[in-house]
Amino acid sequence: MPDSQATSHASEAAQPRYPAAAPSLVGADGQVKEIVSLLRSLDNVPRPSDLSKNIKRDTRCHQTHLDTARLGIASGLFSALRYKHRPSADHSLRVALGCSSWATMLGLPTDQRDALEIAALLHDVGKIGVPDPVLTKPSRLLPEEAMLMAQHRQIGLAILSNCGVPEGVLDIIRLASAGYAEGNLEQPHCGTLPAIPSRMLAIVDAFDAMTSEQVYRPAKSPERALAELIQFGGTQFDDSLVKEFNQIFSCGQNLFAKQVTQRWLHQLPQEKTNLPWKAENNDQMPSIETTQSHQLFEEKLINNMHDGVVFVDNQSRIFLWSAGVEQLTGLSAGTVGGHLLTPDLLKMSDDAGKPLSDKQCPVVQSIRRGTQNIQRVGIRGRNGQRINIDLHTIPVRTQAGGLLGATVVLREAPNETSLEKKYRALHAQVTKDAMTQVANRAEFDRMLESFLEAHLETRRPCSLIMTDIDHFKNINDTYGHPAGDEAIIAVAHLLKSTCHPGDFVARYGGEEFGVLLADCHNDTAVVRANDIRKQLASQKFSFLDNHGVTASFGVAESQVDDTPQTILRRADQALLQAKNQGRNQVVQFGECEKPKNVFC
Ligand code: GH3
Ligand code: MG
Ligand code: MG
Repeated sequence: MPDSQATSHASEAAQPRYPAAAPSLVGADGQVKEIVSLLRSLDNVPRPSDLSKNIKRDTRCHQTHLDTARLGIASGLFSALRYKHRPSADHSLRVALGCSSWATMLGLPTDQRDALEIAALLHDVGKIGVPDPVLTKPSRLLPEEAMLMAQHRQIGLAILSNCGVPEGVLDIIRLASAGYAEGNLEQPHCGTLPAIPSRMLAIVDAFDAMTSEQVYRPAKSPERALAELIQFGGTQFDDSLVKEFNQIFSCGQNLFAKQVTQRWLHQLPQEKTNLPWKAENNDQMPSIETTQSHQLFEEKLINNMHDGVVFVDNQSRIFLWSAGVEQLTGLSAGTVGGHLLTPDLLKMSDDAGKPLSDKQCPVVQSIRRGTQNIQRVGIRGRNGQRINIDLHTIPVRTQAGGLLGATVVLREAPNETSLEKKYRALHAQVTKDAMTQVANRAEFDRMLESFLEAHLETRRPCSLIMTDIDHFKNINDTYGHPAGDEAIIAVAHLLKSTCHPGDFVARYGGEEFGVLLADCHNDTAVVRANDIRKQLASQKFSFLDNHGVTASFGVAESQVDDTPQTILRRADQALLQAKNQGRNQVVQFGECEKPKNVFC
């Protein structure tokens, strides 16, 4: 920094000077003369101790004319600074006129120039909160005094924020004091505004401080001040803007200064000067009652949401931690309130379980970019186990565009294994017969089509067995329906147990089943059907009072021109024939719908 005490305005001269030479940023004719006379008359502003004395009314009008013209109803803030420390108020006015001249010359958009003018006028208002002995100390400040002095930026921002100064203006002041390299080198914007106005303010502020006489040193020459600005270009100040400032300074900026003063005094409409501050009193603003009831609704919503909700400021500092996040993480609002929402706090990890670094934090990234972000991350759940959450960060801005912080929503993501389980359960529900746990009729129809197609395409044989329990009505009637159910289940198990790889069993309906035999021609199919028949007939069941059941079987082998319907019809007809011929037997159909073999 070229002159830290000077640029922080640690102790400006008790009797400020307005050198007739270059640093005054106004010209010499018409309105501009008026400004010069106003600036000079500022020397006559009474000190607080003189207030009891009779102050001439017209002098007071003069003193407040310029800042009132520019600040409208907020000029009270400027007056307060003037009564607290007149040199700071005078400096602020010069800086504002200088910034505005420069902005006019640069052709800065009107909204940026307006915000810059207000920021420049009010950038030192925090000195109201600095003790007088520190503010007016004529020698170098002690470390503790320097600390008190350094607080004036924060105090100023707090005062201005409470007065409803637009966020865009606050951002300019904040960034201007942060220094180019530390504060805004990488930030093309401060809030919605480009960072340019804040960098301009930093330069004009430093230049005016250096070229004004300070109580602890005389004023530096404009040339020397410019040389120091250039020397610190790229670190403390924006290099290219310093060069530009140097250039316009050497060209003379009086023309623009004249335009500025003309605009402030005669052209600025009242609505414009009062606009930022009027926003708070806008008729469309909800009443206090409405606002309070909205807050109640919001509180109820946030604290009863299953999802977790966190509010953070623009530094990622937590100021709201909902019951939902407590539930998810096991961390209470009391424990985390005021802490930074870092990956470590939640033990955030990526897909592979690798911990996220502070730089990878989705919340920080979203705030930095000013854009929404949804990212799935792992966090440590309330029981210490890893849970997946979808972390949705939504940046929050003021109406003026300043970034206040972000709302973060944490939603537990379904974990993949439970999804897989759900899918399997659903698939089973749709494809399986609940009682027997073999495939159901719908699945049989689907499978028969693809099974037949696959075998025909590859010219491999396949066969279909249709089987139906004999006299099943009698079984129900004799042993009851539950016993009948057991018998149906037993037959299903038997069919399943005799399956070869690639085979398929389904309950076709009632006490009837279909079995698809893969890579199996007629002769083998009929032998296998007969084996099943024999096995069933030999079994005795306790639920049937140690009696058994028999079944009839119809077998058909696939033919080259078969469709699901034709092969099913042949197997059905073979089954019907087995029934008709006395039951407990296998009937095999060949190419045509005529029996080829009968096994009993
Ligand atoms: P057939 O030898 O000609 O096949 O004679 P059947 O008595 O087995 O045949 P029918 O079609 O006359 O009777 C079938 C019976 O099966 C009628 C029906 O109540 C019974 N049934 C169908 N589904 C179930 C079931 O899930 N459980 C029980 N217990 N009985 C069933
Ligand atoms: Mg039957
Ligand atoms: Mg039947």
